[in-house]
Amino acid sequence: MGYPDTQLFIHGEWQDAADGRTLPVKNPANDREIGGVAHAGLPDLDRALESSQRGFTVWRDFTPAQRGKIMRKAAELLRANADSIATRLTLEQGKPLGEARGETLAAAEIVEWFAEEGFRVYGRIVPHRSSVSTRQMVIKDPVGPVAAFTPWNFPINQVVRKVAAALTAGCSIIVKAPEETPASPAALVRAFQEAGLPPGVLNLVYGDPGEISSYLIAHPVIRKVTFTGSTPVGKQLAALAGAHMKRVSMELGGHAPVIVCDDADLGLAVKCMGAAKFRNAGQVCISPTRFLVHESVRQDFARAIAEFAQDLETGDGLAEATQMGPLANSRRLKAMTELCDDAVSKGARVMAGGHRIGDVGNFWAPTVLDDVSLDTKIFNEEPFGPIAAIRGFERLEDAIAEANRLSYGLAGYAFTRSLVNADILTRRVDVGMLWMNMPAMPSAELPFGGVRDSGYGTEGGPEALDSFLNVRAIAIAHA
Ligand code: NAD
Repeated sequence: MGYPDTQLFIHGEWQDAADGRTLPVKNPANDREIGGVAHAGLPDLDRALESSQRGFTVWRDFTPAQRGKIMRKAAELLRANADSIATRLTLEQGKPLGEARGETLAAAEIVEWFAEEGFRVYGRIVPHRSSVSTRQMVIKDPVGPVAAFTPWNFPINQVVRKVAAALTAGCSIIVKAPEETPASPAALVRAFQEAGLPPGVLNLVYGDPGEISSYLIAHPVIRKVTFTGSTPVGKQLAALAGAHMKRVSMELGGHAPVIVCDDADLGLAVKCMGAAKFRNAGQVCISPTRFLVHESVRQDFARAIAEFAQDLETGDGLAEATQMGPLANSRRLKAMTELCDDAVSKGARVMAGGHRIGDVGNFWAPTVLDDVSLDTKIFNEEPFGPIAAIRGFERLEDAIAEANRLSYGLAGYAFTRSLVNADILTRRVDVGMLWMNMPAMPSAELPFGGVRDSGYGTEGGPEALDSFLNVRAIAIAHA
């Protein structure tokens, strides 16, 4: 199966790094090296920055209709090439082909929605206090060239959310995409290139994340920074951006609570949360992670979700029967071992999985742990893997206190048939996104983002455009 080497994309051309450096790319299902990716050095970044500045001066003067036409064409190309793009994504990241295809098609939807939303970026006319012949306007302009940093868990989706919003707002953007999964984001960029995006509007680089972020964020050309990844790295980048007075949005880690009340539809809860927990092998920032289940139904819930986990077919994402692929890198495998060992040493019961599968590839068995104590690592650190950790509760207020105990506030889930419970949960669970009696359903038109240590800014809905726009007040008087 063909897997391409990935080059940098600078000023409309695919190219090797100036010094020819590359990094290897591995297939997480079998540890084999499948290709390489160009490793940008500072001269490449300088060219990308100059290109981005030039691209911005061209793109900011495109109308929403002109931008939308190119964006819709890119979406069409993504759909037309979804099968080959999905294969690359599975080869480099591990997720099952169906999930990879879904990610590609969702990217097309996101691009189309933003293309249309561009028509609704407008300001206001504000009456002047003393003169009718003075027009006061509030207008919105693009902030300028953007630097975007994206991770390996959704190599296309994490890029497209940033690119679609930036392009809609009239910004140019340099994307530092993940070195471990470079070919699928490159395919996304190629769709924009083939759709006719002018050179410099979208540049793509790979390399040393720390070197690239410290260089781009501090550079005067860059006016806005957007990052998706872990909270510790997000805090570092936000601090650097603050030192240079750059706009920032941060989509960071989470540790999503799932509150299952005594009146919940247990079958629905197991079906929704089982699917959500093991999707992309749990490497999802909104993955359900801390299961807080009412004592009266805890054992039934734990048994049922353990059965769900045991029935999952784990294997190479390219195989048709596979429902859960390998972890994307060996760091996650090590992390799963540590989390499980720690939980078991503190009294957790392994209901399903709890071990690596085989010794080739990064396969970890879908895992369910019950009776997990609060002092375990898994109840405190973002697990980012296929482990459901369960605890019981007696009173809803205790479950809510536990949900809010950590500094994360990204996603949350709840299952209840009571309107009263639903109302209390809505008001009291401190997260950016709360889904009740259903799985997570993020979409282009809904805000996507967290509160507290999970970051700020949002990556969906009309609100996503705000951080790519300057708001300016203009007044014009005439005699
Ligand atoms: P990590 O924290 O080193 O990296 C996370 C992401 O940030 C990667 O994409 C990496 O390339 C990037 N990164 C790291 N240092 C950077 C820097 N100085 N400048 C710019 N980018 C930088 O660890 P990892 O092993 O790759 O991932 C582990 C953890 O990251 C997970 O446990 C999870 O918490 C988090 N993560 C979150 C998301 C998300 O969707 N929010 C995605 C991937 C990883």
